[in-house]
Amino acid sequence: MVNGNRFWLAALTAAGMLAAAWAVAFGHWAVVPAAPDLLDKLPYAIAALGAGLALRFHRSRLVFAFALLALAHGALAAVVPAGAGPGAGPGAGVNGQLLYPALALLWPVTLTAVALSRDRGVFTRGGLRWWVAVALMAAAVLALAGRLPGVPAGLVAPARDLAVAGLHFRLLGPAFDAWTWLPQPAILAFLLGGVALLVRVVRDQATDDLALLGALAAGALALHFVDRPAAPTWFLAAGAAAAFLALVQQAYGLAFLDELTGLPGRRALMTDMARLGARYAVAMVDIDHFKRFNDKHGHDVGDQVLRLVAVELSRVGGGGRAYRYGGEEFTILFPGATAADAQPVLDAVRRAVAEADFRLRTRQRLKSNPNPRPRRRRGTAAAAPRLRVTVSMGVAEARPGGDGDAPPQVIKAADKALYRAKAGGRNRVVAAPSG
Ligand code: GH3
Ligand code: MG
Ligand code: MG
Repeated sequence: MVNGNRFWLAALTAAGMLAAAWAVAFGHWAVVPAAPDLLDKLPYAIAALGAGLALRFHRSRLVFAFALLALAHGALAAVVPAGAGPGAGPGAGVNGQLLYPALALLWPVTLTAVALSRDRGVFTRGGLRWWVAVALMAAAVLALAGRLPGVPAGLVAPARDLAVAGLHFRLLGPAFDAWTWLPQPAILAFLLGGVALLVRVVRDQATDDLALLGALAAGALALHFVDRPAAPTWFLAAGAAAAFLALVQQAYGLAFLDELTGLPGRRALMTDMARLGARYAVAMVDIDHFKRFNDKHGHDVGDQVLRLVAVELSRVGGGGRAYRYGGEEFTILFPGATAADAQPVLDAVRRAVAEADFRLRTRQRLKSNPNPRPRRRRGTAAAAPRLRVTVSMGVAEARPGGDGDAPPQVIKAADKALYRAKAGGRNRVVAAPSG
């Protein structure tokens, strides 16, 4: 399915970015930064670009994710100073005792909480709550560490001991955390957050959730490899880049894909037609008596029928590509083909629609999920009534040296042929007269 492919592309991109960061940090191509100062700015730069884009698209969860990635980068740099040397890690002082474990616990908890909440805006009342929560947590941790000016160290000493004990609390045996700097509460926070986000990603297949899971993974890798020079920087930059690319991919989808059916939309059709060679065939497809579905079953069912028809059309063979032209009309483009080439292919699609076992989702299901994914069953006796859907098509062609073969004319000719298909009794394919 069209949407599924986009999701997997985003998943591959995120995994690829993290793998690339791994290779750059540890692999054969281990990049020794020529300009460490510049590299240090990389996560900030990508996060800032991503946050700007996310803000524009009203994706507040992603804005927070970018902010948290940048925050992790700054905090890690402060907690594990660059001069400490490879393998040094957070050390045994207040950094290793309090600041690093606090970051390692609070960061995944916050990111997971943001990821599991709804997009409520960034500077709205709901969004401000997150900023305040993060600021309070940071202030509390800094106060406990004696780094908050104005808070006497003696005042917080008892609380600090408690916090240090809690942050290192071992629920499981020491073997569980022997392999990493992360103490057990932090490991558990990452594990639980990761599982919760993974469940969501698998269930909803939403690109945003995937980007948030990628950010969580990047944070885990950065915190774990904190003792390797530049490695956290690469991982956090990769997490931000993956989320950024997920946003760009969504922007592409908004511009070129039809939201209801997932097919490429009118803009994509016009862009593709402008790049066509001299020979191509165009079919206009219109659902027969579509108004009846709306009138009889309601607009929701009409939308479902559109999705189901779109699935059938997207399976067109013969090098064709289906678009949603608008309303209940679709277009199929055959680059390099004649109308005669396209006709049998179109007739197969027409038959597939007419013979498809379309079943409606029940009202209950529609209510709980207003955007159900289309479903097609073969040969099972289901309670839902079967819908009979047919389409009519008109096909026209452009030929090298032909007159009036500009895309609008060819579409017009296909439209005329479609009209004849309707007049001739519907559920048929009619070719425009050639010449
Ligand atoms: P014909 O066989 O002649 O094509 O009959 P028809 O009923 O399909 O044609 P008509 O143009 O009269 O009706 C098209 C209807 O499609 C009218 C409009 O309400 C409906 N429609 C257009 N876009 C959408 C949509 O996105 N969702 C739904 N549910 N209905 C839509
Ligand atoms: Mg119509
Ligand atoms: Mg129609």
